[in-house]
Amino acid sequence: MKKLALHWQILIGMALGVAFGVLAANLGWEDFVSDWIKPFGTIFINSLKLIAIPLIVASLIKGITDLKDVSKLSTMGVRTIGLYVMTTVLAIVVGLVIVNLVGPGTGLDQTTRDNLLNDFAGDAAVRITDATRQADAGPLQALVDLVPDNIVGAASSNGNMLQVIFFVIFFGIGLILIDPKKAQPVKDFFDGVNEVVLKLIDLIMLAAPVGVFALLASLVVEAPSKDLFVALLMYSACVLLGLAIMVFGVYPMLVKVFAGQSYREFMAGISPAQLLAFSTSSSAATLPVTMERVEEHLGVDEEVTSFVLPIGATINMDGTSLYQAVAAVFIAQAYGIELGLGAQLTIITTALAASIGSAAVPGAGMVMLVIVLAQAGIPEVGLALIFAVDRPLDMCRTVANVTGDATVAILVAKSVGKLGDPQERRLDDYYTETTR
Ligand code: ASP
Repeated sequence: MKKLALHWQILIGMALGVAFGVLAANLGWEDFVSDWIKPFGTIFINSLKLIAIPLIVASLIKGITDLKDVSKLSTMGVRTIGLYVMTTVLAIVVGLVIVNLVGPGTGLDQTTRDNLLNDFAGDAAVRITDATRQADAGPLQALVDLVPDNIVGAASSNGNMLQVIFFVIFFGIGLILIDPKKAQPVKDFFDGVNEVVLKLIDLIMLAAPVGVFALLASLVVEAPSKDLFVALLMYSACVLLGLAIMVFGVYPMLVKVFAGQSYREFMAGISPAQLLAFSTSSSAATLPVTMERVEEHLGVDEEVTSFVLPIGATINMDGTSLYQAVAAVFIAQAYGIELGLGAQLTIITTALAASIGSAAVPGAGMVMLVIVLAQAGIPEVGLALIFAVDRPLDMCRTVANVTGDATVAILVAKSVGKLGDPQERRLDDYYTETTR
């Protein structure tokens, strides 16, 4: 019997998870779900995060040393960052246009607003304290944070991914510059580690349908009441519309126009990573799968994926920035604050910076939203207004984040002549597998 494709297996797992969650919530099985189902979801996410650092180290070193000279690295670096900034600004503008046209905050009635503010004031305060800590730092703090003072310390937390990337690029440059005879064994070692890590991803993905089942069942059981969702329907619809435009319109179009890949090919190739992004709400946890899909199914050479995608997962968050723009304007509208062109331009720049600074983990975008609000002169406590629907929107914006990373990887690969025909690559793999 032919095996069901991975994205179908994951979709079925998700659907069953939601159905089971609804059933459990109605039958009062909340404790059962949190004691016996949720842990499997946590184990699944942990196992993905577990290999994130080894994957970045091994694949980035391999990627950089394959480039063979430092000038190629800087060409790719400049293109990558340029495209990341461009797609993010585009996403913010899409969000701003929608939220200004629809005006979801203007329709929020006084009582609902007060109820929301009361219910979520405590949660909002925690986010505000987190964000103030980050905002208090000096202007060059982000640069200082990039350079770790101890690599073992940096690698001990997934939150320091950018520091690890910095060290690995530095190490890779050193490796290119030394005598090739001396560099070879080091390269071979990391090549081997890279193969092992890729195999581990395959193994972990076998458990993906069960993992997403557990994740979604526990999310549904823990979700706040339906009434709040309804009150925030217009706001959520604006965010979702913006994300949908990016995921189903802008990215496939960019890939089609600039890299000649068809809509179907792109969507089929990236969909398992999108489904995982949706279920985990974390671009970092999804990274191993994003890399595998973009390489094996979308034809991007490993040299490019290993450089572009780990950086993208940490700094390129189109979905998050779009959401931050919509949320900021929504909160302003709910408070009756008029935002002029100047304030909206501030939102573009701060949302760009805030999405770069957001960690690739669930809920990070909301913490950084505090900074966007503060810069635009919108009351930070307004965060309480959107709390109830943050998780579902987080799931969706993570999908956009991951799809944006994949798109840029394809465009960069095309621009440096490293985009192959995925069909051919699959056939090659097939022949090597069968003739082994
Ligand atoms: N969860 C998002 C991500 O990991 C970040 C955020 O918007 O909260 O990509």
